[in-house]
Amino acid sequence: MVKGVCILGSTGSVGRNTCRVIQSLADRFRVIGLTAGGNLRVLNRQIHQLQPKIVSVRDLKLARSLRERLRMEGYRPRVKIVFGSGGMSEAATHPQVDTVVSASHGVTGLEATYRAVESGKSVALANKETLVVAGELITRLARKTKSDILPVDSEHNAIHQCLRAGRREEVRNLILTASGGPFLKTSRRALERIRPEQALRHPTWKMGGRITLDSATLMNKGFEVIEAHWLFRMPSEAIQVLIHPQSIVHSMVEFKDGSLIAQMGVADMKLPIRYALNYPDRLSINGVAAKGASQLLSWEQMKRLDFELPDLRRFPCLGLAREALESGGSMPCALNAADEVAVEAFLKRRVKFTDIPRLIQRVLRRTSVARLRSLADVWDCDREARAYARESLLNDFT
Ligand code: MG
Repeated sequence: MVKGVCILGSTGSVGRNTCRVIQSLADRFRVIGLTAGGNLRVLNRQIHQLQPKIVSVRDLKLARSLRERLRMEGYRPRVKIVFGSGGMSEAATHPQVDTVVSASHGVTGLEATYRAVESGKSVALANKETLVVAGELITRLARKTKSDILPVDSEHNAIHQCLRAGRREEVRNLILTASGGPFLKTSRRALERIRPEQALRHPTWKMGGRITLDSATLMNKGFEVIEAHWLFRMPSEAIQVLIHPQSIVHSMVEFKDGSLIAQMGVADMKLPIRYALNYPDRLSINGVAAKGASQLLSWEQMKRLDFELPDLRRFPCLGLAREALESGGSMPCALNAADEVAVEAFLKRRVKFTDIPRLIQRVLRRTSVARLRSLADVWDCDREARAYARESLLNDFT
């Protein structure tokens, strides 16, 4: 049976990789929906290649210019063009969609991902914010609707694979690996003087602006601890983080009998995407692409694997994320909102690199722990935390 797929955030890096994977597996998948922000150039090319039935863009103006562009190019197949959060949800819940790949940036895809889970679709989850801000809501809903959530994020995808080695009650610890980002060896004093362009260089993965910065502060890993908690129902203290600069071991699971199961592979997002789409099958990568060989790990690459504990004094964001998880309720949502404001302020050179955790900490101190019972609660918490962060930016950091 050919499965229908909707890709939320199709023009981003995971979205583009998903399109490539699907093109190579035309006998298994058919793209039904694509959603994107404003990158019409890439989206237009994807429409021609994949011929989706429904496409959503950020706003009405973009929807009109996309329609006009397709008409001028003489594009024939029927395609419905919609926009905004409602349009995204419509694409995600289209009756022909079986699997939604949630790969949009930030919280823009939250509503659509929620609707997809609500209507029982399988979700291949690449977007971090979904489980960070609404982990309890989404996972509870998924249990109710029997919607499968398969992680695409390389670490969680690795843990998902490692967990197949034993039963859930046999697990002692989940161990998330982290490349450590570009400032792994940078002193605390030198961190004060980091400039945005230095922070935007990531040693192993090519990603968007905010996530690259979140990798540099280790907030990204903090978010991943929160995600792991919701995906695998493990308590904070059983989710450890280990720095592993080579990014060959994508994560590990320690079982009660002392066995440590690691998942290794080249750092290529197409691997976890292919796994999440085809689970429980594992497909051969033969013939996937002319560059297929580079998707196999060589002995050369595995010659040296280093591991070390993260330094929480130099990277306080990781500790803040864990605090937010342990406090629960609204705190992870506030953490995410504060981080987004702090990162933006740093990229605009309004605050120092080391001010990012300081600003987040102030927001967390002002946020009261409340249970988020609906998406409306999530949006309220998000708005409030952003307002606190902006206020603090004006009062405490000028
Ligand atoms: Mg990751």
